[in-house]
Amino acid sequence: MERKKSSVVCLFLMFFSLIWFSPAQGAGAKNVILLIGDGMGPEPEGLAIYYNRFMNGMDKRLNLERLMAAGNTGYCLTYQYGTVVTDSASAATALASGVKTRDAIIGKDHDGRPMKTITDIARQLGKSTGLISNTRITHATPAAFYAHIIHRDMENEIASQLIERGDLNVAFSGGAQHFIPVGRKVEEHPDLKGIGENAGWGGSKRKDNRDLIGEAKSKGYAIVANDRELSALEAKNPDKVLGLFSASGFPSVIDRQPHHQTGVPTLSRLTEKALEILKKNPQGFFLMVEGGQVDWVAHGNDVASVLHEMLELDQAIGVAMAFAESNPDTLIVLTADHDTGGLAIAYSSHQPPAPLKLPSGETWKTKYNFAEKGIFEKMAKQRKSFQKMVMDSKGNPANLKREVEENSAISLTEEQAAYVLAKDPKTGYPATKDYSEFSVYGNNSPMALVGRLFGKETNTAWAVGTHTHTPVMVIANGPSGEKFRGLLDNVDIPQIIAGEWGVTLPAPK
Ligand SMILES: [Zn+2]
Repeated sequence: MERKKSSVVCLFLMFFSLIWFSPAQGAGAKNVILLIGDGMGPEPEGLAIYYNRFMNGMDKRLNLERLMAAGNTGYCLTYQYGTVVTDSASAATALASGVKTRDAIIGKDHDGRPMKTITDIARQLGKSTGLISNTRITHATPAAFYAHIIHRDMENEIASQLIERGDLNVAFSGGAQHFIPVGRKVEEHPDLKGIGENAGWGGSKRKDNRDLIGEAKSKGYAIVANDRELSALEAKNPDKVLGLFSASGFPSVIDRQPHHQTGVPTLSRLTEKALEILKKNPQGFFLMVEGGQVDWVAHGNDVASVLHEMLELDQAIGVAMAFAESNPDTLIVLTADHDTGGLAIAYSSHQPPAPLKLPSGETWKTKYNFAEKGIFEKMAKQRKSFQKMVMDSKGNPANLKREVEENSAISLTEEQAAYVLAKDPKTGYPATKDYSEFSVYGNNSPMALVGRLFGKETNTAWAVGTHTHTPVMVIANGPSGEKFRGLLDNVDIPQIIAGEWGVTLPAPK
């Protein structure tokens, strides 16, 4: 009898605990913050980690490492539909919709069918949504979270789709040139006057008279155009904010240091502000934050600029982690769409260290230079992106020599500068001499050539000026973070998030 009674009590307790402890669908990860480093293969992550330890102390840890230590790490394949290497549009479509597609396609599968995005699902569940990128809001990665279009270059149409759907709560990026009527200048638009000249001015890229800024306002958006205006939102914190902080992409982080004031908010400031707005929704939110220019400067083979982009993204990771600490129902997922450039820090025969008499009495000798702290000290001295140095030289070798010597730790002969700027009579651009088929963006070639001249001084070499197959890291922490362990495929990421919310991806729109 006693035994019977206790087993009834036991059963009751088990039943009660099942109800009590089984999470309701989606109760685990109410909020999801997806951070994407565009072009951030494991190499730029290693670069940032080593830089931080060699320069700041071997016990120092980046937020990236703190997230890895606290959470779960996976290795993720990035191939696109039918090919080994991916484009950013197809990779972003995989990350947003859980489907493989062809290069350049946004938000559609390989047959051209529009696919549902994780943002759509968040909206259906009553969650708020936000997208942040330091490129353009119409650029491949953010676009794949709201647009459906056959080619990523159709950025005017992508901008129209953003405003027509009008359901994102937060959109913070550049790309104002796609939102204003043909013939107008961004800096003259009444709502975009706050964009600073150094942040990037420019004319409309549209072919029609649509004023998407006006249309956005009529759909309830507050418009902000610089850091000050972003901060002024503090008082009212509206539910929908469109922040366009430059005509095109943000200036590179390395070109935004205090000596070049721009008024462009940092990625971490944008993330902080977006979280303030999104957290008001009791149903939770989905936020995507892209450090989008790791890719851009890696296409130009500019290692110090990659480092700056990585450290900027790392600050945003810190903001996301601080939020998740006080909101434990938040899942953070950090990944990349692909690797760009195939960066290598490698040993070389350039200036091997001098022989060393060891306490044992033996003499240690080496034939090679295995890269000491000095490489990071040289990287730290670079104060401008290669792109800005080349642009500011205006095609003049003497100017380029001065630019490089004033803004970096290396010196250049005028012959070398002339070699960097020499134009190929066929293409009109300078030509890289090695693997020129892998330098497809002609205007990146001078930067890649400067990168080669820097190479031996910083023990860095680059494989290509395009994307590589290298699988990327996935680091996740929070509810169901353990599902991101092991070998993953990029389409798994939104599928796991959707699964957390009781929904299946991929799904047609
Ligand atoms: Zn990309």
